[in-house]
Amino acid sequence: MAAATLPARAASLWAPEPDAREASSAQSSYPPLDGDSRVDVTVIGAGITGLSTAVMLKRAGLSVAVLEGRHIGAAATGHTSAKISLLQGTRASTLARSLGEDAVRDHVAAHRAGMGWLLERAADVDCGLERATAVTYSTSAKDGSGARAVRAEAEALRAAGLPVELGTDVGLPFPVTEAVGLGEQAQFDPVPYLHSLATEVHGGGSSVHEGTRVRAASWFGPTEVRTDTGRVRSTWVVVATGIPILDRSLHFARMEPSRSYSLALRIGSPTPPGMYLSADSPTRSIRTARHGDDRLLLVGGNGHRVGTSSPMLSHERDLLDWAEEHWPVEAVTHRWSAQDYQSEDGLPFIGPTPQAPRALVAFGFAKWGMSGGSAAAIALTDHVLGRTTPWLGRMRADRLPRSSRALTTLAQANAQVARHLATGWARPHLPAAHDPAEGEGRVETTVRGKVARCRVGGVLHERSAVCPHLGGIVEWNDAETSWDCPLHASRFAPDGGVLEGPATRGLGTPPGLGSVVRPRA
Ligand SMILES: Cc1cc2nc3c(=O)[nH]c(=O)nc-3n(C[C@H](O)[C@H](O)[C@H](O)COP(=O)(O)OP(=O)(O)OC[C@H]3O[C@@H](n4cnc5c(N)ncnc54)[C@H](O)[C@@H]3O)c2cc1C
Repeated sequence: MAAATLPARAASLWAPEPDAREASSAQSSYPPLDGDSRVDVTVIGAGITGLSTAVMLKRAGLSVAVLEGRHIGAAATGHTSAKISLLQGTRASTLARSLGEDAVRDHVAAHRAGMGWLLERAADVDCGLERATAVTYSTSAKDGSGARAVRAEAEALRAAGLPVELGTDVGLPFPVTEAVGLGEQAQFDPVPYLHSLATEVHGGGSSVHEGTRVRAASWFGPTEVRTDTGRVRSTWVVVATGIPILDRSLHFARMEPSRSYSLALRIGSPTPPGMYLSADSPTRSIRTARHGDDRLLLVGGNGHRVGTSSPMLSHERDLLDWAEEHWPVEAVTHRWSAQDYQSEDGLPFIGPTPQAPRALVAFGFAKWGMSGGSAAAIALTDHVLGRTTPWLGRMRADRLPRSSRALTTLAQANAQVARHLATGWARPHLPAAHDPAEGEGRVETTVRGKVARCRVGGVLHERSAVCPHLGGIVEWNDAETSWDCPLHASRFAPDGGVLEGPATRGLGTPPGLGSVVRPRA
């Protein structure tokens, strides 16, 4: 049982929430789109992928409009662990097994290119960029699956030309049975970095617009995207929304969306020197970050499919229990969570799709989007400028599932979607005698259909519980006070507004439902 307590409210250490952001003079904000305009390229999404692409295109002489539904860094990039590394857990050996050594070489080449661009661009930004050794470790028996996976990772990365080293003295306060390390990797604070990119984009015929959600689009001819406050026409559209929106290629059905948790801890002992990821389950991520005068320990893990595994706060408690077994935790300064997407073969989707050749997508970074999103930006820029990207082949967005392993993964993922769709509708969701208490939410079956009821900040919200993307029944996420859809990972605020995922519209408000300040009965 944890001795330290979790903060009442989820907030990322990188502080991408608008309130916190406005308090920092180092960061700016941008006005919503106002009216119609024409540019060379529209970029949807102001995470690392969208903003890096916008900078590269602007440097190439094109005019760019970045449209962001919430605020810069609102989704994964503002809630990431922000390690920049070519050693990525056991990813290389997993790719080697399913796709072969050439795929690992392409993967490493892509991330090396993205990392190189990022490190050069971040070098002059006040974003806590520091070099560190990346480590994948195992604590299970020397002949167990975790330790074997570590050795396989060392082999796969050596074959791809990386100078990794095996050893067990890695600076962790618990016994490690096997570990592989790669020096000179990096970690940073992604939010000032994103703001620096946005500053470079905005002006001189290009612009950044926050609070501007794209609701609809025409992908043919000169493309047009439509928002509540205006339209933008352009020759190209870059869809950098984490998972694609308005997706005719059904890419969302080829993604496993996984949500995981992070804690920032003040501890009463020296912090470990490197950046770590466990090869054993449950996955544990460890790094440190400067925060004011402190050096905090950041721990992460306990991932699960979005919209499942309630109550979600239990994952943060479990993570804290684990941290307290190994470090003298004095305080939890921040707790937060985020989601990312993994394709059926583990590689991202980058570039045009056959259904919309002028709409370029980039997603599926499998929790390695700092270098991955920067690499995608390089490839998308190459595509717009008519250049070839040497490592792109296997990551093209128009590829079909290839291996039997990929087809099996895809079938399993879609069987899960079907199961969540059916069970969401079949569950009786009996109405409770009392309104939800503060921070609580539940779905109830009523004469108006399935209703999502929650109370946050003293306000009782009632919305349709049916996700507008493909009709799943949303689940209450008590860690983030949000409604999360288990089908394709759309998430909604207590008042029904879209937070992230493929949905472009919020939860509906049938007649008689809404938000009211109603004291608890
Ligand atoms: C827990 C966790 C830890 C991670 N740790 C690491 C790590 O250590 N290292 C690493 O390399 N990677 C890590 N990742 C992965 C990395 O964070 C992501 O891959 C990366 O941030 C994705 O960036 P993005 O720009 O593609 O998407 P996002 O950052 O999600 O940005 C998409 C943007 O699009 C906007 N948007 C969505 N829909 C619309 C719309 N309709 N109109 C307008 N705007 C819209 C969103 O608001 C959002 O701002 C981690 C991921 C998770 C979940």
